[in-house]
Amino acid sequence: MKKTAAAALTLILSVMLVIAGCGNGDGNSKGNNKGNENLSKDNETSKVEGVSGASEASYTPYDQLKDKYDIIIIGSGGAGMSAALEAKEKGLNPVIFEKMPVVGGNTNKSSSGMNASETKFQKEQNIKDSNDLFYEESLKGGHGTNNKEMLRFFVDNSAGAIEWLDSIGIRLNNITITGGMNEKRTHRPEDGSAVGQYLVKGLVKNLQDKGIPLFVSADVKEITEQDGKINGVKVLFNQADEKNITSNAVIVTTGGFGANMDMITEVRPDLAGYVTTNQIGSTGDGIKMIEKVGGTTVDMDQIQVHPTVQQEKSYLIGEAVRGEGALLISSEGKRFTNEMNTRDKVTAAINTLPEKAAILIFDSGVKTRVKAIEQYEKMGFVIQGDTIEALAKEINVPAAQLQTSLDTWNSAVKNKKDAEFGRTTGMDNDLSGAPYYAIKIGPGIHYTMGGVVINTNTEVLNKEGTAIPGLFAAGEVAGGLHGQNRIGGNSVAEIIIFGRQAGIKAAEFVASQ
Ligand code: ADP
Repeated sequence: MKKTAAAALTLILSVMLVIAGCGNGDGNSKGNNKGNENLSKDNETSKVEGVSGASEASYTPYDQLKDKYDIIIIGSGGAGMSAALEAKEKGLNPVIFEKMPVVGGNTNKSSSGMNASETKFQKEQNIKDSNDLFYEESLKGGHGTNNKEMLRFFVDNSAGAIEWLDSIGIRLNNITITGGMNEKRTHRPEDGSAVGQYLVKGLVKNLQDKGIPLFVSADVKEITEQDGKINGVKVLFNQADEKNITSNAVIVTTGGFGANMDMITEVRPDLAGYVTTNQIGSTGDGIKMIEKVGGTTVDMDQIQVHPTVQQEKSYLIGEAVRGEGALLISSEGKRFTNEMNTRDKVTAAINTLPEKAAILIFDSGVKTRVKAIEQYEKMGFVIQGDTIEALAKEINVPAAQLQTSLDTWNSAVKNKKDAEFGRTTGMDNDLSGAPYYAIKIGPGIHYTMGGVVINTNTEVLNKEGTAIPGLFAAGEVAGGLHGQNRIGGNSVAEIIIFGRQAGIKAAEFVASQ
């Protein structure tokens, strides 16, 4: 394709994106997922302070491409955009290359929120939390296998990340809880809507305000070296034009490999046939490119299966639905697990049911508190009944049993004791406000915990544990932080905390050259 044709294509795509509101949003905690068909009108039009102009996003035209930048950032999810903003803040000229025609990656699909401890918003709301508790609960969730240095850095910088976002117009002051946590630390947008689209819009707006170039349909194929030093990338623009672009540092923020079934089944043959909530661009490119220049990986077989995925559309139903009170029931109308257990345990419980699927049940109160449910409704996932009996009929479960399950649950909420399954969170409100609702779900591939090995400076390490000069990585592409199981809400925190760190450390590296 000729340059002019490529530029025209980029322009057309940009205009399409402006119309589409620049996102796809379904949700998942960094609840990953995809597609413009998932766009939430509510998020588009919601008047959230500080980000109202973000939907006018357009991307940098191809004819503005330069041969050299201070820092090249590969991938435009939350990690890449945070890195770009911090590098710019340090006075450098970063660029972002995104292979898809839209920004935001799986970050767009995140729904539940961003975990953080000792935040100003928690304090305002009298939520008593501590970084130590956040550390311990994340470590327990990861079965003690998390990289402890990374985890310590993560919790200690979580409140700072919430404040940084607030300072750039991205306010996450509505706090809920996710599975495996004992304290409310999952920060969401003020109106309780899914975090991903809100975050992406806000970050894009900041990139635009600061004049940071962002090229879409810019597929990075290789990280290049000269004289043993990282010196840039090879990029394929608009599937046609290959170029070498040089830089003093490269930050890899390409996300995970949750949409690459070959990579998944190579390490986890048992997951063949599972649906995935991941956007199609999550193909593990960054991992492969980093391995080629000497990097190494950790925990590659630790793949998170999310328990509540709408199977026909592979669409993640965020954990906030349970966090705000929903139950999981079997086709017999019975509860079968502590719904607020960690994702691996809830998934295992669903897989013991004969149909390996279950039904989320909630009332109008949950629906009001979790804005994302409006999106699920628009997508046709939500079944409604004016009474429990009517709902039971709609979802084909025994009405008397469903009524008994809800009555037992409502007394458990009242007495603050779930004698059946020992649930202790997501019990602030009972399920007694008609109408009642149901969403049918089953497990789906959601998140790849493994990835490249980095240190807390986000430097990519080689097999000997030495930093590869000029090469940084952050976000889902990196492994170690979550160990064997990621807690919902921790990946959005990871991309902001380590994304910022990558921008700062790459800028320091460049300045020291
Ligand atoms: P994170 O949550 O770690 O920020 P995301 O999945 O949100 O990760 O974003 C990663 C982004 O990187 C996605 O938009 C994806 O399309 C993009 N990406 C993946 N591989 C490449 C590549 N080879 N070149 C450019 N962009 C890439």
